[in-house]
This record gives sequence, structure tokens and C-alpha cells, in this order.
Amino acid sequence: METHASKKISVDQTLELLDKNMTDYQRLKPVPFEEFLSILNAKPSQILRNIFQAFHDMIKTYVVEPEETISEEGDQLSFTNYDCSKLFVEGSENPFFTDMLFANRFMKQMEYLRHGAQQNRIYIFYGPHGCGKSTFLNNLLKKFEQYANTEEGLRYEIVWRLNIKKLQDKEKSLTVSAFEKLIHYVEKGEDTFKQGTNEKIFGSADAEYIEIPCVSHDNPFLAIPKDQRRIVLDELIKNDEFKWRLFTEKEYEWVFKEEVCTICSSIYHSLLERLGNPSEVYKMLYARPYYFNRRIGNGISVFNPGDSPLKQNVLSNEILQNRINSLFQDSNIISYLYSRFAKINNGIYALMDIKSHNIERMVELHNIISEGLHKVEDIEERVDSLFFALMNPEDKRSIRDFPSFEDRIQYIDIPYILDMKTEVKIFINIFGRHIEGGFLPMVLENFARVIICTRIGKKSQALAEWIKDPAKYKNFCDDQLMLLKMELFSGNIPKWLEEEDIKSLDNKMLKKIIAESEIYGKEGLSGRDSIKLFDQFYSKYAKEDRLVNMSDLCTFINKLDDTAKRMIPPGFMDSLLRMYDYSVLQQVKESLYYYNEEQIAKDIKNYISAVTNEIDSVVKCIFTKEEIHVTEAFLESIENRLISSNMDKKRRDEIRKDVLKEYTTRTLTHEIMIEEKNITETRLFESLYDRYVHNLKKRVLEPFIENENFRNAIKDFDTEKFKTHDKRIKKDVKFLVDNLCKKFGYTIQGANEACIYVIDNDLANKFK
Ligand SMILES: [Zn+2]
Repeated sequence: METHASKKISVDQTLELLDKNMTDYQRLKPVPFEEFLSILNAKPSQILRNIFQAFHDMIKTYVVEPEETISEEGDQLSFTNYDCSKLFVEGSENPFFTDMLFANRFMKQMEYLRHGAQQNRIYIFYGPHGCGKSTFLNNLLKKFEQYANTEEGLRYEIVWRLNIKKLQDKEKSLTVSAFEKLIHYVEKGEDTFKQGTNEKIFGSADAEYIEIPCVSHDNPFLAIPKDQRRIVLDELIKNDEFKWRLFTEKEYEWVFKEEVCTICSSIYHSLLERLGNPSEVYKMLYARPYYFNRRIGNGISVFNPGDSPLKQNVLSNEILQNRINSLFQDSNIISYLYSRFAKINNGIYALMDIKSHNIERMVELHNIISEGLHKVEDIEERVDSLFFALMNPEDKRSIRDFPSFEDRIQYIDIPYILDMKTEVKIFINIFGRHIEGGFLPMVLENFARVIICTRIGKKSQALAEWIKDPAKYKNFCDDQLMLLKMELFSGNIPKWLEEEDIKSLDNKMLKKIIAESEIYGKEGLSGRDSIKLFDQFYSKYAKEDRLVNMSDLCTFINKLDDTAKRMIPPGFMDSLLRMYDYSVLQQVKESLYYYNEEQIAKDIKNYISAVTNEIDSVVKCIFTKEEIHVTEAFLESIENRLISSNMDKKRRDEIRKDVLKEYTTRTLTHEIMIEEKNITETRLFESLYDRYVHNLKKRVLEPFIENENFRNAIKDFDTEKFKTHDKRIKKDVKFLVDNLCKKFGYTIQGANEACIYVIDNDLANKFK
């Protein structure tokens, strides 16, 4: 039984543990301005960041940029396979999946953002219903909130600690009542992140200072008058690349040009007037971490259309105002008035959908963005924030009446997913990783291809310009080349493209193709439709004892209701099926075909030796050192493998003559004797070798076409009956199944079902 004492210990330990894990509180303590400057000296690029730069850094932290990209030709890479999963997927209840096209578009805008060229803008994420916009924005904001509150994302803001005693000495009239202290404590208690300051104020009998946070979250560095900032930074920061950028680049203009907020500025001037010199003023200036909290609207404010407008736009703090007034003995000198926009200055303001009350907010934003500031009673309040909004196509008309809006808005399209790999990821995320195992390889991707074909344009001018004769790819692709387009959208250049077409796909062409895609993904099956269809498909066809195959997919699509079916272009399913059939046949072919390089080389060497000798002679091959009896049967046996089994005597003689001629005039006399080549490096050997391999490959499917026993053995594989089959056939079937598993990721059951599919659909003859 637990004693009181042991319980006490475990409680203590728990508290200790909590203490240890509360590193946040530690670092969230305000530091004197002097210390802030030394932090600035140590980490200038981190401390001197506005919201745009911090946001950009956050994106850079979470988005992984891989080495290889879709096109590496030319001086500039066109598309990058960004991995955005840390940003939108990991650790989120509702993951958002980006495809390559969207990720590139998004990252491009984020790059502009940092450079500060487009700060006075509203970023509108624009897309059809069911594209996941709100999930996207929620995840984005959440990651920023997390990041901003870490060591890496930390930025500082101004907090004044007005030393009462010092100022009283000047004024000799201020007292802080006990009641006021109590109120102050309650106020502080709400602001959990300012823990460190409470003790000093409440713990001692006499409060040392009045704490006034900057409502606009201004960077403490901005408290330094504008005309001195350059000199200070020149002194403070060592001469390195960052300093050069700081002093020259547009993104750092704010460091030199931005005014500190009106409240801070009036505090500064009042203090300077009373204390006489700036260094005394800076002693009352502190820097504390800018703490982001979406729930209390600190640094991030998010509005839904239904959120009713606040009654009060101008906020104040009466108690604090009274204390300031009595400290300075003047009620006009500092007015602690601000709007709710101040709370998101240097932060983020987001509107979820431009509907209802959010239309009014949008209009209000317009004025702020055009001016960069707005009036709070008599005071001008600066608003430098990141403005985000979501918009559905039908809501565009809500802002139609404000033509001047257009140049303030940066639209970023969020279309439906156009990449099948990403679409598959969504299914897996929703239904679980196990679903993959329910399908034969390639079938799940093909389901996704059907979904995506409804979202992309049927005709493409760029593709027509690129590939002049699409018919040559009829085994891989539809004649509109939609399947090829999908491959490119997934960042994949298919291996089946011919060399010349791969060469002519330069950056310019690729950009043209991608540019066409800008209009895609606004129609067709939505994300929600797709998930619903997948659910129906999976629950109907996934079975314990068999895998979902391509015939199931075709049947399912065929039975779809008209609305969905009409979205699939005519002929697309036929092409998809043909592509699948051809691919699965190629897989079987590659898995069946095997050759022994050594055996082939030996055959060819012996054949060359035999041809250069008389029929019926017994010779020792000069290459293999094997003794061979040169007979008609011996030559034919190799020729059958080398060329073809059904050749007449005349053709055989011709071939032998050709080999002999090449051997004596070139191979032996020139290549071997003069160039000192090995027989395997000669032109004769190489051409015979190629013919041998080609011939083997051509005949590899024969068992599928002609050999009934082989077909039966496949059907019986993994059953009792399999044992009764011929030993050699059993070995071949096992070899085939093993290779399908090893090379193409089949399970044994899947490999067997795929082979049966090939047999049942007579694919070997279909593509003969
Ligand atoms: Zn301020």
C-alpha cells in the first residue's frame, strides 16, 4: 500500500517533471533592452524578422526540398518535388495533401512574400468546394503558431517597465494603491506567459514598475529612433553576408523605415523628457517573446463568416491608462488606445470564406491594406500583417464592386488534386494503410487516374505540339494523352517515351504544359466525391480471399450513375484498361524471361568456331577451349536459339557464310589481331549476342499461348494439384511468381491472380 509519504514524493516528482518541461516559461521572461541587443548581436537574422520573413522561415523549416527534380536540363529547374508533409500532414488531425503543381505554386508565392515586394496584399486561397481549403489554412496557421512559439521561431516585442520610484523621484506624487496592485495581478494572471513578472509586482510590498506591453507587438529594435538605427546596426553586427543583405535588400527596409507604434513612441518621448537621456529610457525598455495564440487572438486572428462584428472597435485599458496618467501627471500624454488590428500587427489575420460578415471585414481590410494603417480615433495605427482569406468561386462576386481590390489581391488557386499518387495518399489516410493490400498492384492508382481524368482538360495544345504522333503510344496512353499528362503532373517522365520525345521535352515545353494545367482542377469529381466513390468501390469489391483487379474497376465505373460517368471522357476507360493490360503483360514477360549470359556467350563462341571449320570435323574452340563436333545438328541447335527454328537450308547457309565472312575479313584479321580486342568486344559477337537475346525475349510468352500444361500449373499454384505437374513446369511457374513478387511488389497470391488475369484475358495474343 502506498503511504502518504510516497504519494507526496511522486507528486513532487511530477511537479518537478512539469517544471523541467516548462522551458517555454523560462524563455518567455522579458529581458532588458541591453540583453536584447546582445541577443541581436549574436543572432541578427533571427531577431530582425518581420511577420513575412518569419512566415517564410517557418515554411522553409517544414517543407523539404529534395535533390532530384522533374527536369534538370537547362539552367533553371522548372519543378520541384517539395515534400510538404511536415507542414500539412504530420501531427494534424485533418491532414491536407498537396500535389506537385500546387506545392510549386505555393512555394513560389512564399518566396515573393519574403522579399517584401508583395506585402500590401491579401492572399486569397481560391478553389472549388471540397478542395480542402479550410483544412489547408487551419493546418498552415497551426504550424505557424507552433513555430512562432519555439526557440527557432521566436521573435521579440516591446514591453515597457516604467520604474515607479525613478519616475516618482521626478514627479514625487505617485502612489500605487493596494487595490490597484491586486487588479494588476488579476490582469497578469490572465496573461499566462508573463509569469515571471508577477512576483516582483505582487510579492513585494512596493511595486517596482508599471508594465506596459506594446499593443502592436513592435520589434524592440524599432524603439531606437530611425536616424540612429543604421549606425547602431553597423556597430552591433559583424561584417558578413547577412549585414550586407540587411543594409541593401528590400526585404529589410522595414528595419530602417518603420516607425514604432504611437503608444511606444509617446512613452519614449515622455520618458526622455523626464529622464533626460536615452540610456535611462532604454533601462525601462524590455524585450519579451512575441507569443502567438490563436484562441485569444494574440498574433493570429481568424474569422468565420458567422462571427458577428465586435461592438467595440477601439480598445483601451482603463486601469492601466489611469496609472499611466497618474505616473506622468498628465492625462493626454500617452493614450493607451488601440484597435483589434493592433493585436495582429506583425501577425496573421485570416478570413475563412468571403461570405456574410466576412464581406464587411474584407472591405475593411481593403482600406487598411491600401493605406498600410488605419485611424483609431485620432491616432494612426500601423498594420503590417499577413492577410489570408479563403474563397469559393461563387463568392468572387462579393468583391466585384471593388475594382481597386484586384491589385491588392494575390490569388493562389487550390484546385482538386491532379496527381494520382497524392490522391492515393488521401485514400490511405482516410481508410487506412491496409487498403493497399486489398488491390493488385497498379489498380488503386488506376482508380485515382479515373478520378483525376474528370478534373483535367481533354485537349492539350502543348501536348499536341510536343508529341506529333500519339498513336505510337497506344499501349501506354489514350490518344488525347491525358494519361501522359497525369504522369507529368506527378513529376514523372514515363520510361515508355521515345528518346526523341524525351529530348524535346525541355523546360520551355514543360512550362507550357504546366501552364495549361492552371485551369484544371476546378471541375470534375471533388475531393469529397472521390472519397465517397472510393468507399463504395472498396466496400463492394475488397474481399478476404481475392484482390481487387482491373476488371472490378471497369465494372464499377461502368455501373456509375450518369452524372459521374459523363465526366469520364469517352474512350478513357478503354485506354486505361489497355495500358494496364500491356503493363501487366510486360511484367509477366520480364519475370518469365531469364537468360544465362555465360551460356549465351559460350553458345556464340562455339558457333563461330564451328562455322569456320568443315562439317564433321572435331575441333577445339579457340575461345572456350571446348571440344566440338561440327555437325549439321550442332549448328542448327544454336541457330534455332539464335535466329529462328523454322528456317530452310538456304537461309541457314547464308547466315553461316555471313558469319564466316565477317569473322575472316574483320573480326580475326582486324579486331582481334590488330586492335587486340577480346572476342566478346567484336562487332560480330555483339550482333549475334543481341539477336540471341532478342529472340529469347520474343519467345518468352510462348508458354502462355501454346502450353496448356503451363497455364494449368499457374491456376493450380499454391494448391494440392500443383504437385502433380511436370517438374520443369513447376520450376518455371515458381520462377515467374518469385520474380513478380521480387521485381514488382506482388504478393504470392497477387502474382498468381495477375497471371490468371493474363491467361483469362488472353493478353499474350492481344499484344502479339
Ligand atoms: Zn508599441
